[in-house]
Amino acid sequence: QVVFDGVHKWFGDAPAVHDFNLAIAKGEFVTLLGPSGSGKTTSLRILAGLESATAGEVYLAGRAVTDDVPEKRNIGLVFQNYALFPHMTVAQNIAFPLRMRRMKKADAQREIDRVLTMTQLTEFKDRYPRQLSGGQQQRVALARAFVFDPSVLLMDEPLGALDRNLRDHMRLELKNLQRRIGATVLYVTHDQDEALALSDRIGVMHRGVLQQTAPPDELYEEPVNSFVAKFLGQSI
Ligand code: ATP
Repeated sequence: QVVFDGVHKWFGDAPAVHDFNLAIAKGEFVTLLGPSGSGKTTSLRILAGLESATAGEVYLAGRAVTDDVPEKRNIGLVFQNYALFPHMTVAQNIAFPLRMRRMKKADAQREIDRVLTMTQLTEFKDRYPRQLSGGQQQRVALARAFVFDPSVLLMDEPLGALDRNLRDHMRLELKNLQRRIGATVLYVTHDQDEALALSDRIGVMHRGVLQQTAPPDELYEEPVNSFVAKFLGQSI
């Protein structure tokens, strides 16, 4: 479903991502975990088309998309600062990606109603973001990412702005939502608990290099090198 094939990224002469190789199966939830500056966000942005790779290719559903603009990639995005449009209602915020894709009005309305129900936001649809709690705003951001039924969802610290309780709650909601629609997910976090709770596999990054990708228990039981062992051990 998703493949990174030998992706490199330099900013000027500073390498941010080095020979990144990763294949994610349909419906799989993979998390990139690692310290700040290790190249997690850059990898995700390359797949989204928000950043170009210096070398290598990315594939979606078997097709190289390296030259495709972000809108053509059929990817849902959720970032840490959920960045809702403050002057638009919940329903208008959710409709935005559909407007960008010039979907017919009746079809768009059906889609919007569907995701409002799915994220339990129907009763809030005419409110503005400032009239919502942080968790509700985060749900709107998720709804907006789910609205055109993306087969791939990219999330970068989507729960980062929330307090601890809300984070735990949203974590469950997120996982349920993902399971229900069977989306393929690439997730970025530096929160180990979150990675453990959500992921089928975790990729540990350090200095632009993917050190190891494995199911959570394997990662803990058989770390491939001392960085992985230390990183996982340290943050418990
Ligand atoms: P964090 O957890 O702090 O978000 P990260 O693992 O996601 O970190 P990246 O944001 O991918 O790391 O950054 C990897 C490296 O690339 C860092 O050294 C960063 O300073 C550098 N970098 C990222 N974006 C740019 C840019 N637009 N211009 C120059 N350097 C950049």
